[in-house]
Amino acid sequence: MKILLIYPPFLEARVHEEEINAPPLGLYYVGALLKEKGYSVEILNWARISKASDLIVQTLREERPNIIGFSILQANRWGALEIAETAKAVNPEVTVVFGGIGATFLWKHFLTHFKAVDFCVLGEGEYPFLKLVRAIEKGHPKKLKSVKGIAFRTKGLPVKTARPLPIKNLDDLPVPSKYFDYQHVAFTRGCPGNCTFCGSPRFWGRRVRFHSAAYFVKQLEYLYKRGIKFFYFSDDTFLINKGRVIDICQKIIERNLQISWFAISRVDLVNEDVLYWMRMAGCTQISYGVESGSEKIRNFLNKNIQSDQIKKAFDLTTRYGILARAYFIYGSPGENRDTIQETIDLINEIKPLSTIFYILDIFPGTALYDMFLKQSGQTDDIWLQKIEDILYFETDPHLTKRMILAFGRELRTAFHKALPDFADAVELTKKEDFRELNADFLSRLAMTFSHGDYAKLEAIPHKDKTAKRLYRKSLNFAPNDRAYLGLGMIEQRERAFRESIALLDEGLRVFPENDQMKLCKGISHMNLGEFQEALGCLERMRDSKQAEAYKQECYKALKAMGVKH
Ligand code: SF4
Repeated sequence: MKILLIYPPFLEARVHEEEINAPPLGLYYVGALLKEKGYSVEILNWARISKASDLIVQTLREERPNIIGFSILQANRWGALEIAETAKAVNPEVTVVFGGIGATFLWKHFLTHFKAVDFCVLGEGEYPFLKLVRAIEKGHPKKLKSVKGIAFRTKGLPVKTARPLPIKNLDDLPVPSKYFDYQHVAFTRGCPGNCTFCGSPRFWGRRVRFHSAAYFVKQLEYLYKRGIKFFYFSDDTFLINKGRVIDICQKIIERNLQISWFAISRVDLVNEDVLYWMRMAGCTQISYGVESGSEKIRNFLNKNIQSDQIKKAFDLTTRYGILARAYFIYGSPGENRDTIQETIDLINEIKPLSTIFYILDIFPGTALYDMFLKQSGQTDDIWLQKIEDILYFETDPHLTKRMILAFGRELRTAFHKALPDFADAVELTKKEDFRELNADFLSRLAMTFSHGDYAKLEAIPHKDKTAKRLYRKSLNFAPNDRAYLGLGMIEQRERAFRESIALLDEGLRVFPENDQMKLCKGISHMNLGEFQEALGCLERMRDSKQAEAYKQECYKALKAMGVKH
């Protein structure tokens, strides 16, 4: 029995492609369990494939799957439906299964309107999918009713079976990284929060279940040994149990996993102790759902966090050299100029070094969606339209698109304008064992201003000046190769070649093997017409491929000058 698990393409292009690039972790868990039980499974990340691609037909012909499982989010359901129809045209016998959050809350809709969908797996999918595969394999359609957590058609009508109990011990699941490579990992399932716009509480339940720290770190270790060094810890609230998180961090350190990772948390769950261990174990960013500066709007969203908790979380996180990123939602009920100003005021107080601003979306499986259906008289049939999602403001007569777009611009502009001040205001822990980590944090932040994402944004003022200050602050904590290089590059950009060379010389005394610094120094010498000196730097580079073009230029210039080399 051959099973393909597909992460299908999205309807619309994304501004932040990275948001959709990775298949949901659930697909890997399902794949691992099926593999462990002896099935042939392949996971295909088709998030960015063109829907009309010949590759789809070719793959389906070559692979000849018996079952295709799709991981459905609201925004990729049309992509999945198109592939499902193509698959049925290639082989009418193939069984199509939809799973994931989109299928869980719209199973009736899919089974009513789309003949190409044979089954939906609802909620936590590993065991329902496995049992469904077994029932299909044995050709026992009557047995389907005994498979809990699925939906299908009987006599043309959609029905669902009983809900299974949540998996008691998550460690009973095979470690997916034994079989697959990926970077998004999760230690927990569930979130005790109950935000009105979020599908997590109904999908996973509000009781949080945990893997053991040993299982989780083993998962990282498999991946690390295969060369993966950066991870997204994608738990809804990784920090729900701080003792367990510290246990994970200590295990990462004990096993000497040289990794870095991002996490997500609620602001009311952090303290100094856990931040200390997280930073020590490689955490470099925590994203917090702040949502709004207006308490009224936060209450409507049922966020249940207070302004002082938000301030404390941002202050502590930054203090430990972890970049605190704030998620904001705008375009909520009651949004107006005043509430936007409240959000800007809060931004100025918490000084986030990164933000993401979203327009409030309405998704099935949320309290907001229930409210929308009730108030509008709409049904799930609204999803027959070729739309990815429903924006809340489109349903509220008090809000217009123009207003919302203007609010978004206002929020982003206020953040970008103030960002250099936020960076200057960073105060880091004075703990002696954090000197190198602090230097690393500041130089990484500086790099975003001088050569990274922020460098590209017109709206941010004084980028190079801010970067220089951060690089210098970094060097006050400890020697740092990124800081020397960054400063050398900025001076070079400003045509201050002597200063650039002096800084790089200083850096190369501490980091004599750093090829990037040698290259940069060589280029500064070339700009001064000092080709012999430039060659002195370039010829010391181990990987001379990068330096080759510059070397050739030096030889040519020296020849023209009649200098033998
Ligand atoms: S938004 Fe975050 S805190 Fe709120 S319910 Fe969802 S996962 Fe939990």
